[in-house]
Parts: sequence; structure tokens; C-alpha cells
Amino acid sequence: MEIITRRESMMSIARDLRRANRTIGFVPTMGALHDGHVSLVRVARTKCDTLVVSIFVNPTQFGPKEDFAKYPRDLDRDASLLARQGVDYVFAPEVSEIYPTGFSTYITVEGLSEQLEGASRRGHFRGVATVVAILLNIVQPHFAFFGQKDAQQAAVLKRMVRDLAFDLDVIVLPIVREESGLAMSSRNAYLNDEEKRAATVLHRGLSRAAREYEDGERNCERLIEIVRSTIETEPLARIDYISLDDADTLEHLERIDDPPALLSLAAFVGKTRLIDNIVLGRTKKQDVAGAKA
Ligand code: AMP
Repeated sequence: MEIITRRESMMSIARDLRRANRTIGFVPTMGALHDGHVSLVRVARTKCDTLVVSIFVNPTQFGPKEDFAKYPRDLDRDASLLARQGVDYVFAPEVSEIYPTGFSTYITVEGLSEQLEGASRRGHFRGVATVVAILLNIVQPHFAFFGQKDAQQAAVLKRMVRDLAFDLDVIVLPIVREESGLAMSSRNAYLNDEEKRAATVLHRGLSRAAREYEDGERNCERLIEIVRSTIETEPLARIDYISLDDADTLEHLERIDDPPALLSLAAFVGKTRLIDNIVLGRTKKQDVAGAKA
């Protein structure tokens, strides 16, 4: 496995791979890797000849009061984990390689970026769409892999790839959870043991609502109330938002008449902001087909 830090080197490798008709798979990450990332890498490994993983903590997707400076970074650990997974190239650029002096071009995916995470984190998806577009241009993948953990991010990026005619398939893979139900996240490293236990309430709330949905409940206010009342039993948790939206367009829903629907939330546990979600009404078949852009 090679670690590449220069954009020119990565572009030249990608150019050569394309000329040699090798399919390129790409998993973009911000590092501090866990089993959620590994699940993407494992699937990606089976679907392409050459596998590139990027590790880049992207400053433009963090707000001024967010955790960019303290976001966990450990390139050596991440690199050895990725080597064990049979990754071919780790692209780990400095900020100046991605954003050269005088950088002034940004991508905004309208209509999908302003609600949910976008409402709490102004400018977040502009940063995400911009960095992913740059990375896709550098790595030139045939397939790019993202997690359903960041459901809105996946929707935004699928739309960007379609609208701007990027020539690749976007593949979205399921959320990997701890045995406790807690969705794996690099930010879980901020939680102490007590908070980690408390944070399991988020998935419990979502699962309760999912069971009610299976039993026939279609009223969004009532489904959201189930999640809210479950989370409110946990004193360490403070809800930011809970929302039910169309899974593809992210349009806000009053009733679920045309599933699949995305039940998503953000909540603080202690000082740490966590997100989680569950898709209601997605059949197994849609899961496979719907996962591909
Ligand atoms: P990040 O390093 O947080 O930017 O995440 C990199 C990729 O891993 C994104 O596509 C995430 O959606 C995905 N990811 C993060 N956590 C999980 C998880 N628990 N399960 C599945 N995918 C995940």
C-alpha cells in the first residue's frame, strides 16, 4: 500500500490506472477509522481492481464553532488498518493540496442542503460537496462508496454526481452499529463510558418508531413523538432535531404514503453532537437497488 500526499501524484496514478483499464474504487473518509469505515472498504475491495481511500479532515465542512481543530487524527494507525484491508492507495493530502492559494470555487446542491443537518450546520454541505467533487476529480473513480450513517450527505452527493454528470456510480452502504445499537462514529471517541451508554437511547428511539411503522402507524408527528419521548428519558441527551422526510428528495413529510422515508435525528450527549437515522418502508429489494445512484 502506498500513501500519497500530493494531488499531482494521485492524479497521475489515476490516469495510468484508467489507461490500463483498471476499475478504481474510492472511499473518502476523514480518518479516525472504525468498523463503519471498514465495512465500506471491504465492499469496495470486492467491486474494483484498485482501491483508493482518502483521509482528509476537510476544513470547509466545519463551522467556526465546530470541532475541526480537535477532530481525532491518527494517520499511522489508520494506514496500518487500511493496509490490512488490502487497500492499494491512501490519499492523505495537506489542506493546501486540496485548497490551493486563491481557491474560490464552491458547489452548492440546492434543495437538499438547507434542512436537517444543513439547518444546524450552515455551509456544511457546501463544504462536503466541494471537497468530494475535488477528490473525485483527483482520484477518477468508477465507484465511490458512502455510508447511510450520513444519509443527507449521501443524498446530496448522489444529486451532485447526477446533476454535474460525474462519470461514476455512487454506492451507499448500511449503518454499522456497536452491539449496544450506537451507530459507529469517529466522534464517539469524545464520549466517556457513561455518555456512551446514554447515547444508545438514540437508536432505541428510532427502533421503537420503526416498530410502530411496521405495525401500521403512518402519521409522522406520532412517529417522531415516539422517538422524542424515548430520548427524553435519558438526562444526558438533548435533542437537536428529529425529522421524517422523503428518503430521496428529503422533502418534509406529514404522513408516510409513499415510502421509503428517512427518520433522522441529531442530539447532544454531553457536549458531543451525534446523528443517527433509520429508513422506514424500504424493502430488501429497494435496499440493494436504492443504494445505487
Ligand atoms: P467520515 O470519516 O465520518 O467522513 O465518514 C466517511 C464515510 O464513512 C462516510 O461515507 C460515512 O457515511 C461512512 N460512515 C461513517 N460511520 C459509518 C457507520 N457507522 N456505518 C457506515 N458507514 C459509516
